[in-house]
Amino acid sequence: MEGKGVRQKAPFTNAFRRGRPISFAAGPVSVFQAGLALRRGKGHFGDMDIIADAPTGLAMALDPLVTRVLAPNPSPFTYTGTQTYLVGTSELAVIDPGPDDPRHLAALVAAIGGRRVAAILCTHTHRDHSPAAAPLRAATGAPIIGCAPLTLEDAGPRADAAFDTGYAPDRVLADGNRVSGPDWTLVAVATPGHTSNHLCFALPESGALFCGDHVMGWSTTVVAPPDGDMAAYMASLDKLMAREDDRIYFPAHGEPIEKPHRFVRGLIGHRKQREGQILRLLKADVGAVPAMVERMYAGLDPRLNGAAGRSVLAHLIDLRDRGLVIEEDGVWKTTA
Ligand SMILES: [Zn+2]
Repeated sequence: MEGKGVRQKAPFTNAFRRGRPISFAAGPVSVFQAGLALRRGKGHFGDMDIIADAPTGLAMALDPLVTRVLAPNPSPFTYTGTQTYLVGTSELAVIDPGPDDPRHLAALVAAIGGRRVAAILCTHTHRDHSPAAAPLRAATGAPIIGCAPLTLEDAGPRADAAFDTGYAPDRVLADGNRVSGPDWTLVAVATPGHTSNHLCFALPESGALFCGDHVMGWSTTVVAPPDGDMAAYMASLDKLMAREDDRIYFPAHGEPIEKPHRFVRGLIGHRKQREGQILRLLKADVGAVPAMVERMYAGLDPRLNGAAGRSVLAHLIDLRDRGLVIEEDGVWKTTA
């Protein structure tokens, strides 16, 4: 198979126009396998072949300003793993440093290659995204900038075990705030929903948007109450639809998304379909979440049942807030 794929020293042009990852850190075999694995992986849930083939730890250039490094944390929730992005050429920003795993930290330090890191940015504080921020700050001296630590409520923490409670940013970015280097600018786009503190980062120089877990390249996003909020999530999808200059999305999990508006329109349609399905089930007296999951997610990897149930609950809470459904003793009903 050697040599059939994109060559090691191929110019960036055609390969990245097609959204195909090319590598400058590995030989042609790895490059070819990486592209193949990612293409084959499209749309699958937890396919172990893909996970085994995924190019963990390699620095892969996707654009003249964007390099990706995959962390070794594949799972039914993270697909092949968390993808950390390096932005810039002589001076860098690192987006979503990933899990606190020494192998991933070593891969990031190697990819950085002694260049100055101006900022470490996190899209949100799930444990597969932000825990490596602190050790990377220690290794590079760069400040942690980006999403807010999670807000706690009077009724108790919104966060469950999936959250990185140790996340401590040096500077929090609000919607529209920017960080820049010699050849890049990153603009925060507040996109609550998956988590309340989620940010995307736009890179106008490339027409790119780093979309974290708000939009993923392989599966729909989990929206898990109490911190996950379906109404906010839908509003954040609408917000992306209104942005005109994003040419490509780089998600934290899954392939780059080349026709982002079409993709997001599909996600909005999918959620509306789910909502319609839920209302039909309630009208048919199927009002307990586990029974709804069983009917709505036929063939789902059983490890994802809990997450599917949280997403159904997120829809129900949204419908309740709109006055369309009520809950009594764990059973949901339509009001009409
Ligand atoms: Zn997440």
